[in-house]
Amino acid sequence: MIKLAAIIDGKALAAEVEKESLARAKRLAEKGIVPGLATLLVGENPASQMYIRLKHSACSRAGIRSENVLLPESSTEEEIIAKIQELNQREDVNGILLQLPLPGGLNPQRAMMSILPKKDVDGFHPLNMGSLLLGVERLVPCTPLGIIYALERLDIRLEGAEVVIVGHSNVVGKPLAAMMLNRNATVQVCHVFTRDLAEHTRDAEILVVAAGVPGLIRKEMVRPGAYVFDVGINRVGDRTVGDVEYEAVSEIAGAITPVPGGVGPLTVAMLLRQTLKAAEEQTGSSQ
Ligand code: NAD
Repeated sequence: MIKLAAIIDGKALAAEVEKESLARAKRLAEKGIVPGLATLLVGENPASQMYIRLKHSACSRAGIRSENVLLPESSTEEEIIAKIQELNQREDVNGILLQLPLPGGLNPQRAMMSILPKKDVDGFHPLNMGSLLLGVERLVPCTPLGIIYALERLDIRLEGAEVVIVGHSNVVGKPLAAMMLNRNATVQVCHVFTRDLAEHTRDAEILVVAAGVPGLIRKEMVRPGAYVFDVGINRVGDRTVGDVEYEAVSEIAGAITPVPGGVGPLTVAMLLRQTLKAAEEQTGSSQ
């Protein structure tokens, strides 16, 4: 009989983080501090609307006050930046998150740079990214943080581990590579120009796939016993699938995240932690 991989249950881990976050928020409340998150949604992208809803309901379960600022599809870069500057000034807003992508080909770079680094709960500001690269993790991107959280929570040793990351985006691959290096893993980063993907992925004791290509990782590309994190979120017909052939890879991996229910909930849970961290630091309440 084939022994299937253990499931890394992102939902269960996220539920634990929510509980922990609620306790942290209560400790702040005892000092009269209510941690606050503001999200900024430009336009009416249905997937973005769904992510915003998920983030706000997680906040409400964790004792974090949250509000969404809705800007019209036709907003200019200047209008988005003006709204961010308003939120930067508010003491009751500890974290600011600009939901991506922006509509109409608007470049988010300048808008993201206008978020005060201490309120940048997505960790995309160059100051936070640069500091991550220098080995000082202040506020860091939530998806990589969720993967690191799960690995540490599951007691998986990163020092010296062979890590392969598929995808080199600013949101996932690059910051995750830096976080893995900060923990002394050996890291290979692959992308669309990698000549022989399987040659690299087969080395991985920890394989993280964030490409946005359904079925990209097949069983024969995975090292037996590997921990596989599937970041991809793809709509195929009426199903949501990741980048990994889940059933087949489960027959060889040691553990694997499902899609949905894996990295997604962990990402949202890390937003709670980052907002609390920002609130604690801004109010001198760090533990
Ligand atoms: P992106 O489009 O910015 O980057 C994709 C990366 O994958 C690039 O580095 C590209 O070179 C690489 N790639 C594309 N095709 C490839 C191929 N055939 N072989 C090897 N590499 C390939 O995407 P992103 O924002 O990093 O997101 C990637 C996926 O992860 C998407 O499906 C996205 O929806 C999902 N995502 C999920 C979460 C979550 O919380 N679960 C968070 C962020 C992104």
